[in-house]
Amino acid sequence: AQPGVQRLKAYDPGHDLVALRRQYGEAHLVELGSNENPYGPSPAARAAILDSLHALHRYPDPLGGDLKRALARKHGVEVGQILLGNGSHELLMQLGQVFAGPSEEVVFSRYGFAVFALSTQAAGARMRIVEALPREAAMPCGHDLDAIAAAVGADTKLVYVANPNNPTGTWFGRDALVAFLDKIPAHVIVVMDEAYAEMADAPDYASALNVLDRYPNVAVTRTFSKAYGLAGLRVGYLIAQPGLIAVMDRLRESFNVNGPALAACEAALGDEDHLRWACARNAEQRGALAEALARRGLRVFPSQTNFVLVEFGARTPQVEAALVARGVILRPMGGYGLADCIRISVGSADENRRLLAALDEVLA
Ligand code: PMP
Repeated sequence: AQPGVQRLKAYDPGHDLVALRRQYGEAHLVELGSNENPYGPSPAARAAILDSLHALHRYPDPLGGDLKRALARKHGVEVGQILLGNGSHELLMQLGQVFAGPSEEVVFSRYGFAVFALSTQAAGARMRIVEALPREAAMPCGHDLDAIAAAVGADTKLVYVANPNNPTGTWFGRDALVAFLDKIPAHVIVVMDEAYAEMADAPDYASALNVLDRYPNVAVTRTFSKAYGLAGLRVGYLIAQPGLIAVMDRLRESFNVNGPALAACEAALGDEDHLRWACARNAEQRGALAEALARRGLRVFPSQTNFVLVEFGARTPQVEAALVARGVILRPMGGYGLADCIRISVGSADENRRLLAALDEVLA
């Protein structure tokens, strides 16, 4: 394999979920490890999948025209500004493949989403990892945008930024975004990973979609996996200037988004009530869970996503193992260099109650 790939480790979901489901039975497991949406998708998405089944022997529309048109209407952009991916993961990987190469550099923050490092190394490019904000900052371990901009050099082709970020849950607003983008040279592509954007309701959060017209070098990724509750279908999308999309499109796997997925996502877009409802429930449960954890003396990082990062200190591995033994699956953070923290997805009220009950037993 090429040197970048030799150093790579395959994606690690933290636990063997298939084995755990077999062991505990799905209904008894509290799965809060993968930032999924506990409410599931719009019923219209399920119906659209059933409707699409008559065409399973046909290849899907390789361009995903109907879904792209629906997305273009939703975001007020041209159809030519959208590319669909098999999850936004695929698009993040493809961005590295298309825009970065050996002897070139990709800049991103420590504790930035794991796929940034994967994509850079798969492309054979150099990683320039920028120190995150300190733990004591208002946005603990969040992106230090000034430092990221300062790290952009002559060899930099790509900058990955997640807003809000996984696994920290941290975010930034419009002023910070614009000040940052103003410092990035126009030939450097800034990828704004906004997988959790729909769930961000803080007045000081701003999507880069609001400033796309001013910065032709910005590419925004979004996903149907989180707020839309369709992680199982694997659909994400990229919004950028038509020229950038056209170049990316050259490396698209011909039929990368399957037929049932295209139909379901289009239907899901039509059900804004469901999206709003799921996001409101998430925000309410996120607040309640953060408060409940803080009441137990735990440090909870601020979050605008559907998970919270929580400090457990030196006892982290023991706590994590004891929770797994009780059928509660969270995400250990050692792989991110946050070995004293556990990331907890915000579940339904019932899941959060079961998590807290198990935690009380473990911490007692
Ligand atoms: N970006 C971020 C920040 C994420 O947390 C995730 C999923 N964990 C993704 C992208 C990828 O999601 P998907 O491939 O399901 O769209």
